[in-house]
Parts: sequence; structure tokens; C-alpha cells
Amino acid sequence: MPEYRKPLPVISALNRPFWEGAKKHELRFQRCNRCSKFWYPHGPVCPYCWSREYEWAKVSGRAKVTSWVVFHQRYFEGFKDEMPYSVAQVELAEGPRFLANLVGVKNEDIYIGMPVEVVFDDVTPEVTLPKFRPA
Ligand SMILES: [Zn+2]
Repeated sequence: MPEYRKPLPVISALNRPFWEGAKKHELRFQRCNRCSKFWYPHGPVCPYCWSREYEWAKVSGRAKVTSWVVFHQRYFEGFKDEMPYSVAQVELAEGPRFLANLVGVKNEDIYIGMPVEVVFDDVTPEVTLPKFRPA
């Protein structure tokens, strides 16, 4: 595996189940045991009913694009071969909105509402990044 030169996530006690899931090519989010809603960003309490009882549950990986940007400015050397690249906000079928790279689509072909599905990019032996491609 060539050296990975882009920023990597900081894995903490709170988000570790998310990254362990990604490594197994599963997209997992916290789901409240009381109101059954999924949430993101990761947090210790349900933002809908304040319950602290939750589980990390696998989601379908189906989503739609709700917003995106195309980066023309290079902030990290590791992106130099991919300029310009897109970063999208996608809304998962289960509800949470998540930021990720889009792959398999030209920047000019991205649109709001575009159906996408998760793919997993094993970027280092420890880290797998969820990304989304047209579904
Ligand atoms: Zn809840």
C-alpha cells in the first residue's frame, strides 16, 4: 500500500465503534434505544430525546446528496493529484447527514438529490474511509 498522505481521522473512545465498523466495511451510527432515531455527529446522548441508551447499528449505506462543494484550493499536499475534488453532505436513508468524498462521478455531474451508496476505501491498515458513489 503506498504511503497515505492525506489527513486521517482522530479515533477516540466515542467514535471508535464507527471506525471499527468502517474497517469491516459496515457503516454504523448511534441509534437511540428509546426513540429509535439515528444521529450524527457522534455524541453521548440522543439529540432527540436525551436518552443515554443507544447502540451502534448498521445502516443501509443508501443516501442522497443534500449539498456539496468542489475544492479548487489545495490545503493539504496529499490532495495534489486530485484537484479539484468534491466533498458532499449526504443524507442517509436512516436520517443522519454525513460528510464524505464522492467517487465515480465528475464534479459537474453532481446534483442535489443524487442517489448515492457507500463504498469503503481502505486507506491505511488502521483506517477505512466511507465514501459515496452514484447508486
Ligand atoms: Zn432518542
